[in-house]
Amino acid sequence: MNILDDAVRILKRYPLCNHCLGRLYAKLGRGILNEVRGLCIKTLLAMEYHRRMQTIEKDYCSELKMLAKNSGEPISALYRMLCADEVSIERCFICKNTLSRELYESIARRVIEVLRRYGAKSFIIGVLLDPEVKDSEIEVLSTVGFKYSESIRNEVKREVGKLVRDLGSFTPDFTNPDLTAVVSLTGDVIAIVNPVYICGVYWKRGRNISQSTWHSGGVRKYPYSIEEFFNERLKELFAAERIVIHVSGREDVDARMLGTGRPLVIEVKNPLKRSASLNELNEALRGTTVEALLHEKTSRKAVKLLKEGLAKKCKIYKALVLCDRLLTDESLRELNEFFTDVTVSQLTPSRILGRKRERLRRRKVYEVRARLISGRIYEALIKAEGGLYVKELISGDRGRTNPSFTSLLNAPNTCIELDVIGVCDA
Ligand SMILES: [Zn+2]
Repeated sequence: MNILDDAVRILKRYPLCNHCLGRLYAKLGRGILNEVRGLCIKTLLAMEYHRRMQTIEKDYCSELKMLAKNSGEPISALYRMLCADEVSIERCFICKNTLSRELYESIARRVIEVLRRYGAKSFIIGVLLDPEVKDSEIEVLSTVGFKYSESIRNEVKREVGKLVRDLGSFTPDFTNPDLTAVVSLTGDVIAIVNPVYICGVYWKRGRNISQSTWHSGGVRKYPYSIEEFFNERLKELFAAERIVIHVSGREDVDARMLGTGRPLVIEVKNPLKRSASLNELNEALRGTTVEALLHEKTSRKAVKLLKEGLAKKCKIYKALVLCDRLLTDESLRELNEFFTDVTVSQLTPSRILGRKRERLRRRKVYEVRARLISGRIYEALIKAEGGLYVKELISGDRGRTNPSFTSLLNAPNTCIELDVIGVCDA
């Protein structure tokens, strides 16, 4: 069956506008608008019927009337002329004659307004369809076949998208757009502002600072948090609802984070502005107790990578330790020698057992460099696999962590101060 016979078969059954008829053949030909496809088919049909009526002795008027009623111009004009009769034209079965260039242009202008309002540079178009339109489309496609067709959703998305790109010089971005504009055929545009993701590192030079703000029984547990720091410094620059931080691991609240800093991704929720430069942001993030440095804008994917990469990270800690007995350089040398590439077994630390269920965890200690400060106090640099509980490595947690500094030195050891001084790739 050729395209014209096929179109006659369809148009005898359903009234279709140029867009909706052309869309049934969207996969045929390149660089042609669907409405042009539809109009071309209708034009050729008008010409073909005109030819037949001039050369074949048969009355085509009733057939032509049916086609005119369901397809409008130019077949309706031909019918009026050749059959000297009026015909009223039906509304398109699928879109009820709503689809038009003018509609696409007016939607595109609204999308551009919205993009400008939110300072968005990249976008993606979503389409919200009336259920009736969807059902009609499914009925037509399932009746006439859909070998070459595309969906109405696709057409609206593409045509509006092209106009927004060309009229407003915004960039379509299918993976990480600044804004999703959900449009409907009534011309409404709903903006879904996507978060801004930026990766970087933070340093924590004070103690008793938690990562996120903790509340326990309505009372905050620690005076300050890294999350608060970011919200205080950056929320206004983005005119955002709030800032959430995604961090690779977590040091203890009383441990400092020094040295290389700890990698994180910040997620700025509902930003009304997104034009602040990295320089401006980093200027705002300078600090003494807490400080951060942002490296580059990124996407949601970076959050997943950050969490997945955690297992592969190794950490370097600096601990100040108190031992219950007097130590010598010799005993610390033994400690250093023993903790070289040693696997440590740890049952969930008793200090967090209420919050986490009991599990056995095995982590490697790559290297320990302990140095005596005075009699019972020493400082230890510990390089270990991410996820090792360092305080328990030192104390032994009453035998729940094994081996430990306590088991090796044959006397209870307590971590007095802990700093993370490096996060590196293992
Ligand atoms: Zn239509």
